[in-house]
Amino acid sequence: MQGAEEGPFKQASGFSVATAEARNLRDLRNRKYGQPVYVSSDHPLARKGQTATWEKFNVRLAVVKFKDGTVLGYDPADLLLPTRFEDGQPVFEFRTCEWCRATFPLTQQEVQQKKDLARCPACQES
Ligand SMILES: [Zn+2]
Repeated sequence: MQGAEEGPFKQASGFSVATAEARNLRDLRNRKYGQPVYVSSDHPLARKGQTATWEKFNVRLAVVKFKDGTVLGYDPADLLLPTRFEDGQPVFEFRTCEWCRATFPLTQQEVQQKKDLARCPACQES
């Protein structure tokens, strides 16, 4: 749906962690600029697996800034949310889906319950 990501949205008051409803920046309804994210896209490959902060939306891309100052645009679905914060630092815990090989973040609740999710939420639904 064109334009869905471009309109105004409510700014969140704090940074978000992964929940059952929102595990990436696309699913997150209220976002705060500077939100820490994990880049799961491999374009470019050198940036895959790095963490960055979300700066803004540019057309339908979420623009993120890396620690070295580089700014790149991504599909917001490829920007994963942290599992939790420790001393203000994002902590990311992931699983790889055994069906589609997508990387997805666990929620803090899933970590505590030691839930071993073999499939990503999208594949669990199908
Ligand atoms: Zn999957």
